[in-house]
Amino acid sequence: MTQALLKETSQMIENDFLPFARPWISEEAIAEVVDCLRSGWVTTGPRVQKLEEMLASYCKTPHALTVSSATAGLFLALKSLNLQPDDEVITTPMTFVCTANVIVQAGGKPIFADIDEKTYNISIAEIEKAITSRTRAIIPVHFDGLPVDLDPLYVLAQKHNLRVIEDAAHAIGASYKRRSIGSFGDTQVFSFHPNKNMTTGEGGCVTTQDENMARSIVLNRFHGIDRVAWNRYGKSGSQHYDVVEPGYKFNMMDIQAALGIHQLKSLDAFIERRTELAKRYDEALEGWDQIFLPQRPCYDHKHAWHQFAIRINPEKAKMSRDDFIEEMKKHNIGAGLQFSAVHLYEFYKKTYGYKEGDFPVSEKVGQTIVSLPLFPSMSENDQERVIRTMQKIFGRS
Ligand SMILES: *Cc1c(COP(=O)(O)O)cnc(C)c1O
Repeated sequence: MTQALLKETSQMIENDFLPFARPWISEEAIAEVVDCLRSGWVTTGPRVQKLEEMLASYCKTPHALTVSSATAGLFLALKSLNLQPDDEVITTPMTFVCTANVIVQAGGKPIFADIDEKTYNISIAEIEKAITSRTRAIIPVHFDGLPVDLDPLYVLAQKHNLRVIEDAAHAIGASYKRRSIGSFGDTQVFSFHPNKNMTTGEGGCVTTQDENMARSIVLNRFHGIDRVAWNRYGKSGSQHYDVVEPGYKFNMMDIQAALGIHQLKSLDAFIERRTELAKRYDEALEGWDQIFLPQRPCYDHKHAWHQFAIRINPEKAKMSRDDFIEEMKKHNIGAGLQFSAVHLYEFYKKTYGYKEGDFPVSEKVGQTIVSLPLFPSMSENDQERVIRTMQKIFGRS
C-alpha cells in the first residue's frame, strides 16, 4: 500500500502533476532542521519551547501546547473531561473522521448536528436540537478556515453548561469579530499536517484559557509525568519525577518544531497568498451554473482559506463529483475530497445506527464537495490551468 502510494506520488511529481495542497518549506526552515539534527537534541526540547512561546503570542493565549497531531490534541482535550458511559459530545458530520473517532476513544457517544448549507459549518440551531441531559461538550469545526459563529455558540454552551473544544485544524490565522481563533473561548486544537496552513510534518497544538485543561494536556501528552509533584516532596534532581496519571505519548519533537518556527513566521504571508488565489477563483468561476462557489457569512471574520471548496451541481454539470475528480486527474490536476459525511461510515452506522437521511445537508454537501488546488506556492499559471481545464471538462467555451 505504502509502496504503491510512494510510487504514485513520485510519478505525479515527475508528470508535472498539480496537487490540491503542497507545503511551502523555506531554505531557512531546512537549515533550522539541519541545525537541530546536528545539535544532538532531536526530541522535545528548546525548539518546541520556542515554538510554543511563538504560538502563544501569535494566538494571544496563555497556553499553547504542542502535540504530535491535532487528532492527539482533540483526544487529550476530550480525555480531560472525564466522560462517563453514555455521555454525549456533539459534532458535525462534515469533518475529517478523527473528530468523531476521538469522541469514541475518550469514552463518549458521538452525536451529530447538521451543517449550515451556506457555510458548511455546524448549525447552531441544529446543535440546540441535539442537546440532551447527557451532553457534555460540543466540537465545532471551522470548515476550511471559515470561523464558526462563535458568539451564539458560546452563549448556547454556557446556558447548558457544556465545554467547547474547537476543531481548529483548518483555522490557524483565522479570526472572528477581530479576535483570533485561539485567543478566546474554551479550547482550540490546530493541525500542522502538511496539507494544513502551516506544517511541522505531523503535529498540532492545543490552546486553552482553562488552567485545568492545560495541566491535563501537559501531563497526558507525556506519560502522566509530573516533575512538580516530585519537587513538592522536597527532593531535587531532574532525573526524579512522579507519575500522577497513566498518560500517553503525544509530544512534539524539536525536529518538527524547527520546521514549525519558520512556518509560523510565514503564516500570515501564506494566508495572504491563499486569500488572493481564492479571490481569483471566485472571480473566474462566478456565474458558472455547473458549480456552487463557497459563500461567506455576514458576521465579521477573517477566513484562513485552508481550502477552496466548490460543489458540483450534478444536473447542470452532467457529471458527479467523483467523475469531476477523475476528469481533473486525467488532466494532471489533483482535487481533494474534504469530506464525506462521517455518520455514513460503516463504523458509525453499525455502532450507533446512523443512516442515510439523518443529516441531509451534510450528505448532500458530502456527495458534491470538492477542493480545488490552493496552496501558497501555486502560481497564477497553475491557477489558469485549473480554470481552463474546468472550462474544458464542463464544455464551457
Ligand atoms: C486534518 C484534520 C484533523 C486532524 O489533524 P492531524 O494533525 O492530521 O491529526 C482534524 N480535524 C480536521 C477537520 C482536519 O481537517
